[in-house]
Amino acid sequence: MLNFFRRNKKTQPPTPKRIQDHGLGPKVRDASALKVIETLNAHGYQGYLVGGCVRDALCGVKPKDFDVATDAPLEAVSKLFRRSRIVGRRFPIVHVRFGRDLIEVSTFRQSISDKVVHDERGMILRDNAFGTLQEDAFRRDFTTNALYYDPTTNEIIDFVGGVKDIKAKKLRFIGDTKTRLAEDPVRVLRAMRFSAKLGFEIAPDILAQASSTAKRMEAIPPARLFDEFLKLFLNGYAETVWRAMRKTPLATALFPCCDPHSALVLAAMRNTDERIRGGSSVTPGFLVAVLLWEDFKARSTSTDVEDDDPAFATLKNQQSYVAVPRRFGTFAREVWLIQERLHKRNVRSIDRLVNHKRFRAGYDFLCLQAESDEQVRPLAQWWTAFQEANEIERRTLIDQLPKAPRKRRRSKGKRTNSVAATEETGNS
Ligand code: ATP
Ligand code: MG
Repeated sequence: MLNFFRRNKKTQPPTPKRIQDHGLGPKVRDASALKVIETLNAHGYQGYLVGGCVRDALCGVKPKDFDVATDAPLEAVSKLFRRSRIVGRRFPIVHVRFGRDLIEVSTFRQSISDKVVHDERGMILRDNAFGTLQEDAFRRDFTTNALYYDPTTNEIIDFVGGVKDIKAKKLRFIGDTKTRLAEDPVRVLRAMRFSAKLGFEIAPDILAQASSTAKRMEAIPPARLFDEFLKLFLNGYAETVWRAMRKTPLATALFPCCDPHSALVLAAMRNTDERIRGGSSVTPGFLVAVLLWEDFKARSTSTDVEDDDPAFATLKNQQSYVAVPRRFGTFAREVWLIQERLHKRNVRSIDRLVNHKRFRAGYDFLCLQAESDEQVRPLAQWWTAFQEANEIERRTLIDQLPKAPRKRRRSKGKRTNSVAATEETGNS
């Protein structure tokens, strides 16, 4: 099986392009990353900036973090830096901390080796096979992600035509698309992410494989998919990513209980982007609440006895696709439970509700629903007015509420069946 996945080494260029007139500005010369490389060099090791930082800087975008590739073994790297530790089981790397910066250092690896463990469908389970700089370039996903910047010579080292693809704004895999997606189906999500972030065109053969790759998402650990979920939707281009994903079965592969064409979800993605642009805080819990809202509602109204806690059941069901950490699940649950209270506007607990720690998130959620559902609009407007009102105005707003019908007092005698039934459902 392994032979099938071996790529023909003869097709690899023997020498890389060394590009000096790359026009890479000072954006890539991050002090902490350069210090890491300097230290590696001083101990006789190679060190290059690689991946997203080089790609983004070439596109004129400020890199969000810095990755370093080296021929030093991970243990040696870890010994060279005081504040460092080896992390990751599947693909171990070293996290080196410099002040508030975190530099990810990885040892050159190769993906074509007997040491790389695949499953029966070609997915890489472990790739701890160390290699040369050239082998490291070829195990990376996209040509645009396999560029190395050598700060000592100010050169970009390009084995795969990545600089050309960046200029043409094209995302294509190094090697055969089918094989690269079989090795790691998450790469299709990465394609959507980079395309949304940089406005790159995804190679048609990658998009053509999106449906078959979506089916393979079930083989990915749900915790890894949550990490990818954060990168997809909490970096300021969630709307573009979601629009691209819902054209394929990928949206449903990650969130099977969410209607990919839900207006609420699209509004929430847009709103998340706007908040990030405006410098407001965002939490994954809010998006989880949005994505699973319909499922929660359906379970709440279902008579299925197994769902005695519909919020819990909704979140539990999601865990086998994208695993939502407990604190974000709790956040979503609180937002859902507040919706009912916002609808009821119970006079006696209204002050407590306004001071609830999730009131703001619950109100934002209601406003998002109001954008696409005109039945919810008057309620959202009432709550907006209520928050802007002074004490006297608040009383007036409360007085204007339709009076809840009084509960009938329980008669002293035998309960009639109809009273018992209405008391249980609260519809007296
Ligand atoms: P960003 O940091 O902006 O999300 P990035 O390209 O740096 O983008 P990372 O996830 O930080 O992405 O990975 C760093 C580099 O490691 C990538 O540029 C790529 O070369 C390589 N890489 C990461 N994930 C994979 C993968 N699943 N398959 C192959 N190579 C990968
Ligand atoms: Mg990175």
